[in-house]
Amino acid sequence: MIKRSFIGLAKTWMEYDALDITQPEPKKIPTSKKATLLLGRSYDHKDSILFNIGDKVKTGQKLSYSEDSDAYVISTVTGTISSISSFIGDYGKSYTAISIDVDENEETDDQFKAPAGDPTLETAINYLTGAPGNPSFEIFSDPEKSINAIIVCGVDSDLLMTTNQYAARADSNAIEIGVRILKKITGVDNIIIAVPQALTIDAAGSGAEIMTVDSEYPSTLPLLMVQNILGQVVPAGKSCEDMGVCFFSAEAVASIGKAFDDGRIPVTKTMTFVNKNGEKTLVTARIGTPISEIFKAFDVTLHEKDRVIVGGPMTGSSVYTEDYPVQADTDAVIVQDRDDVALVSDYPCINCGECIRICPANVPINMLVRFLEAGQYEEAAEQYDLYSCIECGLCSFVCVSKMPIFHYIKLAKYELGRISTVEETNA
Ligand code: SF4
Ligand code: SF4
Repeated sequence: MIKRSFIGLAKTWMEYDALDITQPEPKKIPTSKKATLLLGRSYDHKDSILFNIGDKVKTGQKLSYSEDSDAYVISTVTGTISSISSFIGDYGKSYTAISIDVDENEETDDQFKAPAGDPTLETAINYLTGAPGNPSFEIFSDPEKSINAIIVCGVDSDLLMTTNQYAARADSNAIEIGVRILKKITGVDNIIIAVPQALTIDAAGSGAEIMTVDSEYPSTLPLLMVQNILGQVVPAGKSCEDMGVCFFSAEAVASIGKAFDDGRIPVTKTMTFVNKNGEKTLVTARIGTPISEIFKAFDVTLHEKDRVIVGGPMTGSSVYTEDYPVQADTDAVIVQDRDDVALVSDYPCINCGECIRICPANVPINMLVRFLEAGQYEEAAEQYDLYSCIECGLCSFVCVSKMPIFHYIKLAKYELGRISTVEETNA
């Protein structure tokens, strides 16, 4: 496998959006009549699942898939389960979709209250995966990984959004509690909060070491932060976790702080909504709310060929239904008028070299893309440095032939990861 270094990064011309210091409270999206929760396990109607259509659920109630599975989702509303079905997400990832008809009268489940009194890693794993910001604790129970540094991202991972900068500013008390709890439950003392220069005062009381991050895209991507903040280069084919570093968003750490402080699991997600005219507004909505509710709140009418993107403009994914639910990691929702949508084409690579000049990881994209288009993923990894890609999306952005290179790369990595999991399971 070729191993490229990130040193000598190409400089881009794009800057992250800075949080407006006069930022008002986010606009609250009303709770919808129906919410859809995505449980991270494929649905098989022959499984003995632990909830049924017609069951009443309370806000904060844990819905576990089955006795022999750890997969669960926390209900973000009170109501009645009206359907259970399979849902296919990005790159073919399977979920169980649970639709809930929402009651007007809210009741809160108190199962989390007792364990919240004595924070442990086990409690966090059992209740907080899928809280706003999507905290992930799996890595701490992997015997092959030894985490010695946690980076809290008070920066946003893509352009146009200010979701995590807002959390770093508005939820500084909850972040301070969250950092304290993370230290206790993980045993990791080296916690760093990464913020733009303008938010260093807000981060001062967090109990984490403050590091500032450059405003130029893609400096907030994890592999680059490990390099720029910790001075470590993550070799191709290795992950940040392999180097002993894991990441939590500022919103996720605030969720941990709020959950253990209040004894209640937070259920409301903050996002940046970007309207067709480019106007950006921070909004909050219950996880599970269909994104159509956001459009309704802003009087957005969708026309054929308009594009809806969940996530940022460089790394987000198009979605094809207004029923798509807000998820724990939905940091932005962008709606683009059909006249503004960047073309994607099936034109071939013309070897212009634009992508190679912009790529921060020096990947030979013009060669890589030929193998990706042909579905030859192993060859792409072995010969053309697939795993050196840091997933910034700049190549797709500049591609003269408008090839969806970034999505080819994501699909290839997902497929290779799936194949290796199946091989490990069958070994
Ligand atoms: S997404 Fe494209 S430009 Fe960015 S690192 Fe990967 S190959 Fe390079
Ligand atoms: S920018 Fe597009 S067309 Fe140009 S070399 Fe890269 S992949 Fe080929």
